[in-house]
Amino acid sequence: MEINEIKEIWEKVEKEILNSIPESSHIWITMLEPVGFENDIFTLLSGQGMGIHMINQKYFNEVSNAFKKVLNREISFDIIFDEKLSKKMTEKIKKGRSELKAIDEKQKIVSNLSKLQSNSNLNLRFKFDNFVVGECNEFAYNLAKTVAEKPSEKYNPLFLYGGSGLGKTHLMQAIGQYILLKNPNNLKVKYTKTEDFINDFKKRFSKEGDDRKLMTQFRQKYFNVDVLLIDDIQLIENKKATIEEVFTLFDALYNKNKQIVITADRLPRELESLPDRLKTRFEMGVTVELLPPDIDTRINILKNLAKNDGINMSPDLLEYIAQTFSENVRELEGAYNKITAYSNMSKEPLSLNMAERLFASRYKKKKITIDDILKTVSEVYEVSKSDVLGTSRIAKVAMARKIIIYLARELTNESYLSIGEYFGGKTHSTIMYSYDKVKDEIKYNSKLAETVREIKQALKF
Ligand code: ADP
Ligand code: MG
Repeated sequence: MEINEIKEIWEKVEKEILNSIPESSHIWITMLEPVGFENDIFTLLSGQGMGIHMINQKYFNEVSNAFKKVLNREISFDIIFDEKLSKKMTEKIKKGRSELKAIDEKQKIVSNLSKLQSNSNLNLRFKFDNFVVGECNEFAYNLAKTVAEKPSEKYNPLFLYGGSGLGKTHLMQAIGQYILLKNPNNLKVKYTKTEDFINDFKKRFSKEGDDRKLMTQFRQKYFNVDVLLIDDIQLIENKKATIEEVFTLFDALYNKNKQIVITADRLPRELESLPDRLKTRFEMGVTVELLPPDIDTRINILKNLAKNDGINMSPDLLEYIAQTFSENVRELEGAYNKITAYSNMSKEPLSLNMAERLFASRYKKKKITIDDILKTVSEVYEVSKSDVLGTSRIAKVAMARKIIIYLARELTNESYLSIGEYFGGKTHSTIMYSYDKVKDEIKYNSKLAETVREIKQALKF
C-alpha cells in the first residue's frame, strides 16, 4: 500500500485511540510513525521502548478497536523499535528543553532589567532606538551615544541643554539604559530629577539637625554610583544648601572618574545664581544644545510613532500636524496621541480634515507666506527687499537671503522649486544648498540660532 494511504488510515485510527485513552498516555501514540500495511498487518515505528511496552500491555484493545472502527474489519498491528526515531526524539526533547531555557533566560533578563530599572530609576521607554535623529539633534545624539559606549572616558560631564520637550530627558535616560544593558552587574546607574534630589536632600535633616542614618542613606543613594544622571539642574537655582551639596557630589564623583550627565534649559553660564566654581565644572566636559526639530525631523517623529502603532498616515496629514506643532516634540506627540485616540473612538479614519477640525485653534491663523518672511527678515537685517530678491553679494544681504530661504522651507509648504521661482528662477539645488547652509550654521552659531528663533516668534504673532 502507498505510504500516503497508510498515513491517512493512521491519522483516523490515531484520533480514535486518543479519544479512548487518558491524556497522560497520548504521548506514546502521537510519537508513532506508520510505515507499512501488508497482509493485514499494520506496521508502526516507535523510538521509545517504553512506549511499545505500554501500548502492548495497557492499550492493546483500544488500538485494535480503533483499527476495527476505521477499517471495518479486524487486523493486527506491529510496533517496531527504531533507532533513528529514538535519536530524533532525544534531540527534540533536548531542543524543547533549550527552548524553555531560552525563554527562562529571557524572563530572567526582563526581571533583571526591571530590578535594575527600579534601582536606577530609569523609564525604559526612553531608548536610543526610538529617538529620531535629525539635524536638530544629531550632534547631541552622537555625544550621548559616545558617552553610553564609553562612560567616564571621553566627555565628562556631558551637559545637554535646550527648551522644553526637545528630547533632553529622553537622551539622558537612553544613556543610562544603554550602560545598564551593556554592564548589567558592574555599573551602578542613577537617574534623578533635580526636584527629587532636592527633596531627598531636605529629608536628611531631622528636627535636631543632621540625622546620621538619613544622611548615610542619602549618600548611599547618590554618592555611591558609577553613572549619575541629573535632570533639569536649573531647579537648584537660588537653593543655597542644595547647590553646596551638588558641588560636593560633583567633585566626589568626578574625582573618582564617574560619569556625570546633566540637563538644563540653559547653558551653565546662564544659570545666574550658581557660583562660578559650579558653572565652570559643568562646562568642563562638553555642552551641547538640543534645537527645536526641523520639519523633516518632525515628520519622521510622526512617522515613527505611526509605524510603531501600525497606523498609516497620509503625507498631507503628516505635513499638517508637523507644521502645526513645530516647536516641541512633546506637543507633537500629544497631537499624534490626540488624533489617533479620536479616530479610534469615533471609528472615523484619520484624515487631513479631522486634523483641521481638532487642531484648528492651534494652526497658525494666518498662514505664513514667503512675503511675510521676506518682510520680517529684511527689517531685522535692515536690507531692502529688492536687494534681497536681486543678486547683491553684500554679506548682510546674502545672509538675509539665506535665512529667508531657510524659513520659507521651514514655515511654509513651498517646495525648493517654488522658493527658487520666488527668487527669480534660482534652481532647486541652489535653494537646497542655502537651506542646508543655514541649518548647519545654526548648530554651531548660537547667535544666529537666537536670531532665527526670534524671527520665527515674530512671524507667528
Ligand atoms: P525634554 O526633557 O527636553 O523636555 P523629553 O526628553 O521629555 O524632553 O521629550 C519629550 C517627549 O518627546 C518624550 O516623549 C520623548 O520621547 C519625545 N522625543 C523628544 N525628542 C525625540 C526624538 N528625537 N525622537 C523621538 N521622540 C522624541
Ligand atoms: Mg526633561
